[in-house]
Amino acid sequence: MKEDCSQCGIHFEREEGYWVGALIINTTVTFGTFLVIFVSGILITWPDVPWTTVGVVTIVANGLIPVAFYPISKSLWVALEMGWHPLEPREVEAARRRSNLRLET
Ligand SMILES: [Zn+2]
Repeated sequence: MKEDCSQCGIHFEREEGYWVGALIINTTVTFGTFLVIFVSGILITWPDVPWTTVGVVTIVANGLIPVAFYPISKSLWVALEMGWHPLEPREVEAARRRSNLRLET
């Protein structure tokens, strides 16, 4: 991932530990999807639940979903976080300097 936006120059990681929010979103989506797959797999096939198949499908999903959702979780986090914590004047100025530098080169 680029450190700064190539268009406006804002720096994505606004403070140390910034991406913990994206990690929480990714973990929540992964666990929610696991629950939906697991519970619906049981409900659809009840009473003869194919435990091996349900187990394999949920394990594969738990391996793939966090990787596939990783970039989306970061975009979501940036959008959410900027909604309740808009850019501060020093960040706007730094972004302006970065984008001006980019335009000059
Ligand atoms: Zn931008």
